[in-house]
Amino acid sequence: MEIRFYNSLTKQRELFESLRLGVVSMYSCGPTVYDLAHIGNFRTFLFGDLLRRFLELVGYRVDHVMNITDVGHMTDGEEDRMTQAASRMKENKKTGRVAEGAVANPDDPYQIAEYYTQAFLSDARKLGYKIAFEYPQRVPKATDHIDGMQEMIGELIKRGHAYVAEDGVVYYSVESFPEYGRLSGNTLENLQSGAGGRVSDENQSRKRHPADFMLWKPDQHHIMKWASPWGVGYPGWHIECSVMARKLLKRDVIDIHTGGEDLIFPHHECEIAQSCGVTGSRRFANFWLHARFLFVNGEKMSKSKGTFYTARDVFEGRVTGNPVHPAVLRYELTKAHYRTNLDFSEKGLMDSGMAVRRLIEKRQSLEQLTNGQSAEVDLTHPLLAQFAAALADDLNIAEALAIVNQFARTDHRDPHEALGVWKKINSVLAIAPITEGLLDESDSGGGQDDAMRQAEEWCRELDAARRDKNYSRADELRKLIQDTGFEVRTGKEGTTIQRALM
Ligand code: AMP
Ligand code: ZN
Repeated sequence: MEIRFYNSLTKQRELFESLRLGVVSMYSCGPTVYDLAHIGNFRTFLFGDLLRRFLELVGYRVDHVMNITDVGHMTDGEEDRMTQAASRMKENKKTGRVAEGAVANPDDPYQIAEYYTQAFLSDARKLGYKIAFEYPQRVPKATDHIDGMQEMIGELIKRGHAYVAEDGVVYYSVESFPEYGRLSGNTLENLQSGAGGRVSDENQSRKRHPADFMLWKPDQHHIMKWASPWGVGYPGWHIECSVMARKLLKRDVIDIHTGGEDLIFPHHECEIAQSCGVTGSRRFANFWLHARFLFVNGEKMSKSKGTFYTARDVFEGRVTGNPVHPAVLRYELTKAHYRTNLDFSEKGLMDSGMAVRRLIEKRQSLEQLTNGQSAEVDLTHPLLAQFAAALADDLNIAEALAIVNQFARTDHRDPHEALGVWKKINSVLAIAPITEGLLDESDSGGGQDDAMRQAEEWCRELDAARRDKNYSRADELRKLIQDTGFEVRTGKEGTTIQRALM
């Protein structure tokens, strides 16, 4: 099968071929863990997940790595940064996003980072983001790789790509790397000002070129600091990805690098300069894939307009007034092509809810027909071939979903085969297992189990109330069950429940 992706590096659709037969090495820039991840972040992460799952569907093994940015270099000036993290924490508590006392010492950046890392992983797992289940092996933390960063910085200095400025800061010399600017178009001639990104740039005048970016900053007072050959201090933001990609993927040149569009410059441009600077290769990643931003109701997410949504806001009902099942949010965040600006809306979420329900009901009916026995199918199956071909066309998800919806509406001659097809499609869309148990009355886990037992008790009470013609009590119980997150149906055999999707 011919796979084509739009490569940001060459600005064209290119035939994708992996560097090694049957294996794809892929690096995704991960979350900064000084706040909860928002649905825009998850759009980008789930795009990477879809890409990976598609590659797996067509037979690749995907060696995937994603970093956790837990070094707190987000704004200039240390006080500012920690004050910001603290005030965000306060706000998150006020809005119910973070429980009171969740972080024992909210002045400790390690504790804050650890808290948000776990929160991220929890949300990401609910959304079926595969790599979140591979933590920590494939999800390294920047603070665990400071030695590697220092090693790479040392190597860059040795190779003439980096220098120590007179104030002791180590900079990458962009003039030492002729390819600088190729990804973003910000070539040295085009660049007016510095490329420091999230790192402090107050020392502009000490750099050889205004676009030179920081690799190490000596700073005794920084809240996170490490000893180094260039003094006690902290690393620049870009170096962590170059180091962790090379270390964990064990390659100088990797197949695919992903991230959101805002990372193209300076972050990815700088990653390329560092990685190629140290390996001497012409490319760091063969393919660069970038997801466009998510908007909410046609605009950028905004705190002041109250449209800045975290994943848990959606799950817990703070967006629509009702809890939304993660499978529905996943579907919503992945249903538009990654190179369009996805517009998040309640209406879209409702549509996704219906689409997910249709697919789960499809599985249920196939399982009933087959007793859960599916036949093995592969990509020679015409429907799966079409599904894969759509995704092979630069992840054309809209077309892939149209094929899936058609599948959901078809009556199949061979339900065993159809169930096999369903499972393959699901390996990419990942509706189940995140919805496992959702529509079944049997359930497998913890608190969910208790809620189910309680709701079933109320169902029996409700049936009794109806027999006694105590309709106000029956209504009360129905509301109680719904508020616990179930849909209530009344049938001949009495009241039955299903977990609500939203
Ligand atoms: P951060 O945690 O800020 O480093 O961002 C994590 C990922 O989310 C990066 O790949 C960003 O490019 C991406 N991102 C940030 N905001 C948005 C947005 N509104 N829509 C889509 N992706 C985003
Ligand atoms: Zn990165």
